[in-house]
Amino acid sequence: MSFKPISEIGEFGLIERLSKITAQSARQRPELLEGIGDDCAVWQLGESEVQVVTTDLLTEHVHFDLLTTPMHHLGSKAISVNVSDICAMNAFPDYALISIAVPPKMPVEMVEELYRGIEHAASAYGLAIAGGDTSSSASGLFISVSMTGTTTPELLALRKGASPGDLICVTGTLGGSTAGLHLLQRERATMIEQMRNNEPYNKEVMAELQEYAEAIRSHLLPEARIDIIDFFSEEEIVPTAMIDISDGLVADLGHLCRRSGVGAHIDESKLPVLPEARAVAEEFQQDAFDWALSGGEDYQLLFTLPKADYDLIAAHRDITVIGEINEKEEGVLLTDIFGMTIDMAEMKRGFDHFAG
Ligand code: ADP
Ligand code: MG
Repeated sequence: MSFKPISEIGEFGLIERLSKITAQSARQRPELLEGIGDDCAVWQLGESEVQVVTTDLLTEHVHFDLLTTPMHHLGSKAISVNVSDICAMNAFPDYALISIAVPPKMPVEMVEELYRGIEHAASAYGLAIAGGDTSSSASGLFISVSMTGTTTPELLALRKGASPGDLICVTGTLGGSTAGLHLLQRERATMIEQMRNNEPYNKEVMAELQEYAEAIRSHLLPEARIDIIDFFSEEEIVPTAMIDISDGLVADLGHLCRRSGVGAHIDESKLPVLPEARAVAEEFQQDAFDWALSGGEDYQLLFTLPKADYDLIAAHRDITVIGEINEKEEGVLLTDIFGMTIDMAEMKRGFDHFAG
């Protein structure tokens, strides 16, 4: 028997192989409408209600660094990233379970601060923390949140369902989280350097962080777009397909297109790049459009709508039409700001935990 490193098949290759092992159990329950493959699992609760369920694991040194992440923010983010997956189904969150694995030497006060952040976010989104599990950890802090939500069969939005001709829409701005991450990583390197040299903390770096508060906030304190789900509900809008942007626009549009069996064509010049991200990118001599396309962790919603529904979203200040769904054979294309059309399958993919 030969062994294959996970990095050879990547995160999504691994999930696909694992989903084959679990396919039989999923078939046992016909009320399971969506198993592995969407932002949430979906099952029928009664005739007029479906439950959506998601889980996300935050790992120290992989998802966050305690040198640059306040515990309160971390708790809030752990909730927001799950609410974002619930919103991606056009559903509202109900309950969450929180599991933590904590190094024994971590101060109790830090864990309490984490929970104050969790509680603050849960209250703001109107969901209840209903339980969890606690373990010690031999290496770093782990926070796992599982969350349920509800919607109706008519309102449910999946990654599949987009048709050629549909408009591709995105909420809010993109690139902010990656800009914030770059600033925080630079800050961390400076802090470590100064600690090594026994120097006092350099306030200039801090002042610069304040100048880019919006980018830092996008990274440390993303907000799930439950306001957009409220808007859809008020306007009776049901997207034909929807996903939240956690891995990056290119990767997540790719997931939506694959599940829908369609292609797409987006226009780079229409991307709503956070203005601050442009300034930060310039400082780092990088491209803010690349961050908007491949950066990830912006937690905005990406959805498709029939063209006939355009009027319903036209006046919304925080929704931008960035392209159109095509036939599958045409591929997933991007016309860049110079007018060149490229196949997104050949672009740098979004975040993959095991990519080399
Ligand atoms: P998201 O970014 O929306 O949270 P992921 O990319 O984490 O989604 O996961 C994609 C799909 O794969 C989801 O349906 C998720 O439930 C499923 N999945 C991810 N990891 C596992 C795993 N270890 N076992 C079973 N299903 C998984
Ligand atoms: Mg998601």
